[in-house]
Amino acid sequence: LADRLQNTIQKIRGKGKVSESDVKEMMREVRLALLEADVNFKVVKEFIKKVSERAVGQEVMKSLTPGQQVIKVVKEELTNLMGGEQSQIAVAKRPPTVIMMVGLQGAGKTTTTGKLANLLRKKHNRNPLLVAADIYRPAAIKQLETLGKQLSMPVFSLGDQVSPVEIARQAIEKAKENHHDYVLIDTAGRLHIDGELMNELKEIKELSNPEEIFLVVDAMTGQDAVNVAESFNEQLGITGVVLTKLDGDTRGGAALSIRSVTGKPIKFVGMGEKLDALEAFHPERMASRILGMGDVLTLIEKAQANVDEEKARELEQKMRTASFTFDDFLEQLSQVRKMGPLDELLKMMPGANKIKGLNNLQIDDKQISHVEAIIKSMTKAEKINPEIINSGRRKRIAKGSGRTVQEVNRLLKQFEEMKKMMKQMTSMTKGKKKGFKFP
Ligand code: GDP
Ligand code: MG
Repeated sequence: LADRLQNTIQKIRGKGKVSESDVKEMMREVRLALLEADVNFKVVKEFIKKVSERAVGQEVMKSLTPGQQVIKVVKEELTNLMGGEQSQIAVAKRPPTVIMMVGLQGAGKTTTTGKLANLLRKKHNRNPLLVAADIYRPAAIKQLETLGKQLSMPVFSLGDQVSPVEIARQAIEKAKENHHDYVLIDTAGRLHIDGELMNELKEIKELSNPEEIFLVVDAMTGQDAVNVAESFNEQLGITGVVLTKLDGDTRGGAALSIRSVTGKPIKFVGMGEKLDALEAFHPERMASRILGMGDVLTLIEKAQANVDEEKARELEQKMRTASFTFDDFLEQLSQVRKMGPLDELLKMMPGANKIKGLNNLQIDDKQISHVEAIIKSMTKAEKINPEIINSGRRKRIAKGSGRTVQEVNRLLKQFEEMKKMMKQMTSMTKGKKKGFKFP
């Protein structure tokens, strides 16, 4: 999806004029890209219709940067498609609030149950009881108990000889006794949806009267995740979706159709195996991710609004290829006052907030002139190849700029860190790097 869409976007980005046929061409590409990403064809059709209408409308055609506007419309409509931000969790009128975790085997139910308990306690100061109701998968109970131990939270289980419905019943009793305000029921999954599983889940639902039924789906399974969501919603009724394993290579195209096919919101996303790797779902970020650009788009928009287009493009190119020299740095510094603080800009890059050293990159207005002075005291060769700046050269630069050697050292270090970060960013936006996280 990303490559295709990005090519099209590259093509259209800088256009000062967009004709209806340009829009048509772009929509054709977007359509193909979405279909290729396994987005449901009805969803695609509806989406293209909406975007086309807006793209040939006044808002785009009359603007000074129609190319940018079309992209903005695509992004906005992608965001709309996924619904608003809905990470709140329902509360029952009378405690405890019961949450059922359902989904196929391996989707991440048990892990997410632990993560959710952690979140409820940490963020909402709640006191949940974890319930091991998967009696089929070997070691499933043990797995939840281990998570409970890690969290120092109680796990309710009755072994694998008691029916899940009975386990749920007794667990709720116990929760009332011990004043747990939430009961998280980790249910069994199957490799495929089957009637037996659904019946069991329906029984648990009837008995426990859950406030939320969270369907856990694996983002890596693409269109399958959408089909699973559709069946679970039709047969059991769900209140929300948790999309797991978004820390992997997947772009998360499934997120697009889930909302429109089920009408149910994606509430959380799983970003790793650890117990704190559960995040609220941000439709806008997901749209960026699907478009494959992180917040680079915002960055470029911002740059283009303030700096002349040619320079912004050059800069972006350099950042992407990491062939960034001190001369470029100097050039950028002279734009900083117009564009906003450098560290803010850097934070918008995908993954940048995960990169160590970024916090040391804060450069305020007063420092800028010092930094400029230091860079201007470098020779041409030094600016292009800072590696050659040995201690002798550092002393010379310090003297020439009227700054201390420590300041020169600090700048060199920051510059190196920035370059490293750009390299990482480049490989991330290419989607090659594993463990990609969006900010
Ligand atoms: P269940 O069968 O639905 O209960 O799935 P589990 O909770 O046992 O998870 C299956 C596997 O997926 C385990 O190895 C988990 O560590 C892993 N997993 C779950 N959620 C995530 C996630 O968000 N990211 C990653 N990378 N792995 C996950
Ligand atoms: Mg499990």
